[in-house]
Amino acid sequence: MLNKKSVDDINVKGQRVLVRCDFNVPLKDGKITDENRLVAALPTIKKLIADGGKVILCSHLGKPKGEPKPELSLAPVAVRLSELLGQEVKFAADDNVVGENAKAAVAAMQDGEVVLLQNTRYRAEETKNGEAFSKELASLADVFVNDAFGTAHRAHCSNVGVTEYVETSVVGYLMQKEIDFLGNAVNNPVRPFVAILGGAKVADKLNVISNLLEKCDTLIIGGGMAYTFLKAKGYEVGTSLVDDTKIDYCKEMMDKAEKLGKKLLLPVDTTIAKEFPNPIDAEIEVSVVDSDAIPADKMGLDIGTKTAELYAEAVKSAKTVVWNGPMGVFENPILAKGTIAVAKSLAETDATTIIGGGDSAAAVNQLGFGAQMSHISTGGGASLEFLEGKDLPGVVAANDK
Ligand code: AMP
Repeated sequence: MLNKKSVDDINVKGQRVLVRCDFNVPLKDGKITDENRLVAALPTIKKLIADGGKVILCSHLGKPKGEPKPELSLAPVAVRLSELLGQEVKFAADDNVVGENAKAAVAAMQDGEVVLLQNTRYRAEETKNGEAFSKELASLADVFVNDAFGTAHRAHCSNVGVTEYVETSVVGYLMQKEIDFLGNAVNNPVRPFVAILGGAKVADKLNVISNLLEKCDTLIIGGGMAYTFLKAKGYEVGTSLVDDTKIDYCKEMMDKAEKLGKKLLLPVDTTIAKEFPNPIDAEIEVSVVDSDAIPADKMGLDIGTKTAELYAEAVKSAKTVVWNGPMGVFENPILAKGTIAVAKSLAETDATTIIGGGDSAAAVNQLGFGAQMSHISTGGGASLEFLEGKDLPGVVAANDK
């Protein structure tokens, strides 16, 4: 359990409460195309409203790189949040984020009202954890609540710097839920614990592989990163994505698995094509071959059918499953079969199933399996760093219980 003070441990009646949320939602033509992160933030916001706080919300959105970019304004989030909450969320349009407009909006607040500040990354200091902007944010608030798991692996003004200048800093319900699910899975799992890793590169997941091998019973590898492992086994992998500098690392991990008595599952067959699809969702001619029979001029782009069955079997016998990263180039329907098969096996098990954010979360939601998972993380990078066993600065900064 997370040993940090939460919104349940404070009294916010009449207090100005600055809440760092993760409203970094995808936008298309000014419309929010996936509102999961907004919905995930509601329990904390509702609790603070019900308790009579003056609720000041803040977040970043995209990468405006330290200057106002109208297309990355949080204005559409204020509109949608008002609908979701059933009460007005006043948008404090302010290119300085904490400028005269924002200060006036906060000064005019009554208990139980909600104001949303402008995109914190309009300010260049935000991602540098600069002192001045941290102080400005803190000047708006009596209490700080961090509910932005998606940025918890970064030390920025609005989630870490600000805590130095506000007496009380606690975590929100979403942060608590994320850390409880991921923490229990990794540090106190009901066994068997199966971890599934996919995605493009081994290099991005070095520490995750190593840490999870120690914690899990079975580690399943798929996606582009599998081919470096297969090459390390001495197989011909054709033109598949391979990181030659990580072959020794993969050998080390296979040795480590053997020494620890852990199962490390690699694809036994693979879906191959002549080249990477261009555009990514182009019609493409594929075939399936055993992993030790990839022709020199072919590229592996998804796990094969036997592998999908093998991985689904491993999931069936698990009591805890953590999944991060697609099994193939899932953006292409022809190459999404492995990812779909794994998603389906997770949806069908009664094990605790936890989806790391990013691509795997998007895949699970797109495929309509979202509701069948125990927990879908709102933070890709943050959940990966957590799975590496790292402390997240955004969590560390909150007051201990
Ligand atoms: P990541 O960002 O590391 O989670 O990787 C996700 C990306 O990996 C997706 O865009 C996939 O298309 C890509 N990917 C998955 N499998 C392969 C593969 N076999 N070859 C190349 N890219 C892949």
